[in-house]
Amino acid sequence: MSALQDLIPTVNKLQDIVTNTNLTDLDLPILTVIGSQSAGKSSVLENIVGKDFLPRGTGIVTRRPLILQLINIKEDDPLVHKSDFEADQDHSEVTLEDHLRNAGASQVEPAEWGEFLHLPGKRFYNFNNIRKEIENETSRIAGKNKGISRIPINLKIYSPKVLNLTMVDLPGLTKIPIGDQPTDIEKQIKNLILEYISKPNSIILAVSPANVDLVNSESLKLARQVDPLGKRTIGILSKLDLMDHGTNALDILTGKVYPLKLGFIGVVNRSQQDISVNKSLEESLRAEEEFFRSHPAYKNIAGRCGTAFLAKTLNKTLMHHIRERLPDIKAKLNTLMGQTEQELASYGDLNIVSKQNRGSLILMLMNKFANNFISSIEGNSSEISTKELCGGARIYYIYNEVFGNSLLSINPVSNLPVQDIRTAIRNSTGPRPSLFVPELAFDLLVKPQIKLLESPSHRCVELVYEELMKICHNCGSQELSRYPKLQTKLIETVSELLRERLGPTTKYVESLIEIHRAYINTNHPNFVGAAAAMSSVVEERQKQKQKQKSKDHARSPNGSVPLENGTSSHKVSDAGSRAEELRELERKSSNTSTSGDKELFLNFFFGKDQSQNSSSPPSQPQPSQFPSEPDGLQFNIPSQSPIEKKMEHLNMKEEEELSEREELECELIRRLIISYFSIVREMIQDQVPKAIMCLLVNFSKESVQNTLVQKLYREELFDELLYEDENLSQEREKCEKLLATYREAAAIISEVV
Ligand code: GDP
Ligand code: MG
Repeated sequence: MSALQDLIPTVNKLQDIVTNTNLTDLDLPILTVIGSQSAGKSSVLENIVGKDFLPRGTGIVTRRPLILQLINIKEDDPLVHKSDFEADQDHSEVTLEDHLRNAGASQVEPAEWGEFLHLPGKRFYNFNNIRKEIENETSRIAGKNKGISRIPINLKIYSPKVLNLTMVDLPGLTKIPIGDQPTDIEKQIKNLILEYISKPNSIILAVSPANVDLVNSESLKLARQVDPLGKRTIGILSKLDLMDHGTNALDILTGKVYPLKLGFIGVVNRSQQDISVNKSLEESLRAEEEFFRSHPAYKNIAGRCGTAFLAKTLNKTLMHHIRERLPDIKAKLNTLMGQTEQELASYGDLNIVSKQNRGSLILMLMNKFANNFISSIEGNSSEISTKELCGGARIYYIYNEVFGNSLLSINPVSNLPVQDIRTAIRNSTGPRPSLFVPELAFDLLVKPQIKLLESPSHRCVELVYEELMKICHNCGSQELSRYPKLQTKLIETVSELLRERLGPTTKYVESLIEIHRAYINTNHPNFVGAAAAMSSVVEERQKQKQKQKSKDHARSPNGSVPLENGTSSHKVSDAGSRAEELRELERKSSNTSTSGDKELFLNFFFGKDQSQNSSSPPSQPQPSQFPSEPDGLQFNIPSQSPIEKKMEHLNMKEEEELSEREELECELIRRLIISYFSIVREMIQDQVPKAIMCLLVNFSKESVQNTLVQKLYREELFDELLYEDENLSQEREKCEKLLATYREAAAIISEVV
């Protein structure tokens, strides 16, 4: 029987609490026995543990500190049956009776064993062997000849009958060195003892033999050094049975001689003779009790004497310590309970998913999902990001920035060389020379140009579609994440709805462009008109000619500068700068175009060279936004001044040069194409977003709820849809268990107080 058995259940429960809740350890005090040599320290310790295992005897026996860790294990602890441990071999002869007793005992007796730190993996089931091992290990380090060592022996005792507690047995105080002991042995031992008892967490069991005058008690002197108020020192008076006849220690035991808050307790341990005859611990405890009850001096205070009372006092002291720690533990426990309750709530209530309300749960989650989808598009979602554009705002951006700019960046005549225009004109006039502007040629040429609007429009539909897909993937909620299958299905269904809408929307947008190609409305109020265009071209041309003439006359009448490659030549006056300009133009256009000099012609003609592009305002389109663009040339409504400036410098040196009339006509057609294209482009820029809104965005917004209900709200799907995320349900279970532990712990704590 352990002396501290009463405390075991409470301390175990509390220990469970603190380990399960990651609270600070209960941090029970360390019991440290000190006293002079042979005062009975080891004996007292043995009595407290309730086990016969320490070397005892006359002379110096304890020569190294023994740190004894008692570890309470449950009888069904898996540790008990761990097989990868070497058990101690009992080599002493075993009689048949012993064997039978041991065999019988092992069935009822729970497993108890000791383990030494210096012998890992070995279990000592026989406590006699523990004693032998302590003796061996002491000699190994401290030598055989009474030497001492400060290196501790660490021993753990596992048993269901012990309290989780640490105790320290220390070498006894001695004054005169013997054997191998150094000359300053007294000082060394004192220091060693002080090292252990100065820790505020240690309870000092100061043992003094009753047959020596208390005035000389070294243990009390040392204890007073570290615990001057005597708050954590228990005085133990041993060997009361060995006092001279006629003397007693009543005054000491009643606290009249030496003040200690925790008092003096008299004990009678086993004498050397008792040990020799193997007197059992139980027997000696009974004898001790009898001693006090029958002793004339002590019988009145017998209740406050002996090992049993020492145990009670220790119990009280430990309990006091625990109580001091309880408020801390309680506060922490309350916080933890609150946190866990919150966490549990976040996993959702388990009860909600009863058979009857599965449907309403699904409907609720579905609606939430659909509403998130809608509000993300409309831009009134509660989780609007401030970091990046999202939802509806991105769609707006696609329309205005991406789509708008990509349309603006189309040059409607970039893929239309002057030769093609001339051919078209010639073809359309047929065998007779046309009298006036060849409208047929314009019609023929402008239709394919309108097709240039198709690719950016397609891309616009795709971008919005992709955006809606993104939105639908982000429509989950915390509750929904509990049901991953439902979440997947919801996303799948909305994706499918969007996919279904992609076809019709794209088709509609295509047909928008198709209808513009179907009929070229030259009566459009904004269309420049052939006559007006013609007269302006002619007028400009005339002006240029006049200007040129006067310049030629003034500066360089014969000026003619051939280009390096010789494909074209220009009549220029200020030859140097013009030639420079042309060369630059050519270099740039040949970088971006395959049709070298034709491009040069166009660029030059419209006065739109690269340097002008790069200085254009930032609202101009970025060609890289739409890689499907025919090319990245900027184009604005035809500007007049560059044409004025450069017109006269143009001179096509093809196999067959253009006549002046042809040049005029080509220029005219080009202007008409540009004008008409701008009108169509403006309409497309307006109509495509409207079509996408109507057929894709609004349609899916309006039908999302119904589609979800139709496809997913089916009794036979409920089980599958409400399949819970395993991790999550495990988390919740863990959370529930934890909460139960906390509640239980709180209940235990309130009992303790
Ligand atoms: P330690 O050196 O302080 O650890 O003392 P031990 O516990 O080894 O005891 C020293 C010797 O004193 C042993 O032979 C014990 O049997 C004996 N002894 C200890 N306490 C008592 C006691 O209360 N009464 C008697 N008669 N002998 C005791
Ligand atoms: Mg000892």
